Amino acid sequence: MRCPENHHNEEIEETIADVTGEDLSGEADITDFEADVMSTEVTLSGLTKKFGDTVAVDGIDLNINPGELLVLLGPSGCGKTTTLRMIAGLESITGGRVTIDNADISQTTPQERDVAMVFQNYALYPHKTVRENIAFPLHKLHLSNTNISERVDSTASLLEIDDLLDKQPAALSGGQRQRVAVGRALVRRPGVLLMDEPLSNLDAKLRVNTRSEFRNLQQQLGITTVYVTHNQEEAMSLADRIAIMNRGGVEQVGTPREVYRRPTSEFVASFLGDPSMNIFNIDTSPSPVVKRLATSAPTETARVGIRPEDIYIINKRGGGPIGARDATLTDPVTCSVTVVEPIGRAYEITLTTGDEEIIVRARDRPSWLEAGKSVSIAFDITGVTHFGSDRRRLTDGWTQTGTRHKALRWCTGNRDGRRWPLTDHWGWAYRLAGTIRLWQDDNAANDCRAWVGDWRPYLD
Ligand code: ATP
Repeated sequence: MRCPENHHNEEIEETIADVTGEDLSGEADITDFEADVMSTEVTLSGLTKKFGDTVAVDGIDLNINPGELLVLLGPSGCGKTTTLRMIAGLESITGGRVTIDNADISQTTPQERDVAMVFQNYALYPHKTVRENIAFPLHKLHLSNTNISERVDSTASLLEIDDLLDKQPAALSGGQRQRVAVGRALVRRPGVLLMDEPLSNLDAKLRVNTRSEFRNLQQQLGITTVYVTHNQEEAMSLADRIAIMNRGGVEQVGTPREVYRRPTSEFVASFLGDPSMNIFNIDTSPSPVVKRLATSAPTETARVGIRPEDIYIINKRGGGPIGARDATLTDPVTCSVTVVEPIGRAYEITLTTGDEEIIVRARDRPSWLEAGKSVSIAFDITGVTHFGSDRRRLTDGWTQTGTRHKALRWCTGNRDGRRWPLTDHWGWAYRLAGTIRLWQDDNAANDCRAWVGDWRPYLD
């Protein structure tokens, strides 16, 4: 683990000061934490960052709702941290803008933004006590010593670190340091909390405990949070919504269930899930596996995918498919078992048939199932995902015709009666004879369920 005291460099200190040392003279005294955290909306519009020729963030449109915990998830180098740093004001913006509660803050300093950030390495001041570390952001608020002390105490009590206030970071465990770092971010009662891989320095068990505690705290406070991680399990368990990033762009935004069960692209389908989705090409002479998976596939389907848990082993000793209670199963296919591997409470079973390899995730392992044996499997047809030749998911019941346009969803009947664009709901629409026929990214349905909307081509 990289300890803060070993990583005591000026850049980090400046950064901490930038995002924690807001100058708000004359601010009112507040002691009640929950009453004071205001739920804030953050909107990224066409947000772009270039480092020389490298496009780190490529025109992101994303809306983070008040009180929401949005996770930015994606592989290394996809632009998560750069996006977070642009929201914090620690990175200049090459194009587009960041608005907080409709105010454009793109050109403001970090101190002028109502945001606080928690860093991966916690970045605590090693020679200050916990109390001094937490109090640090309050010094420029011109609060009385009593008020500073009250705020530090209430923050420490919220995070249950009251007994650590007089210690120095070196005397704390990783989990305790992490709490202090969160305390220092929250003590100022920011409108937006930004977290960059805050749990990655903790061991696996502590990480799981800490994330559920943090989730409870975030919900209790209702603080708008943008959380960066490359750990999908963490994202799935923490997020209200996940934005899956790839090569500087956002591939899909949706609830954990939506992005997992209804991925809009092969990238999302493969990135999420461990083991990941089985994906097969549809050839002119399809194999028995593909024939079954392609049953009722739209004509333009180029590839089909199925998650390992949507494949069922058929019990040789009677009783049919094992564990398939609500599944709509295809006819069986016979395969050979290559590997059976226990993974936690389930088994990952690798099968082959012809040239194809299939990974199955099964809760139970029948005693007869072992490497070298043959086995029959059936697919839950409702779990099959159809991809077009552009590797994007074909929306059920729609066909792709006409010209492809970048499109933006416009919603009518928003709560305040205004018509306004939901800027995170970009995707591709097809225009035929002046009518938009297909919306390929249906994750917007989550937010617009109660609204009446239509799709407009982007005038570009
Ligand atoms: P990781 O999960 O590995 O931290 P990330 O998704 O957070 O990755 P970023 O750190 O945002 O990715 O980097 C996005 C891209 O921008 C990468 O190609 C990276 O090399 C590049 N990049 C980031 N910061 C700089 C910089 N200061 N100068 C030049 N290139 C940079």
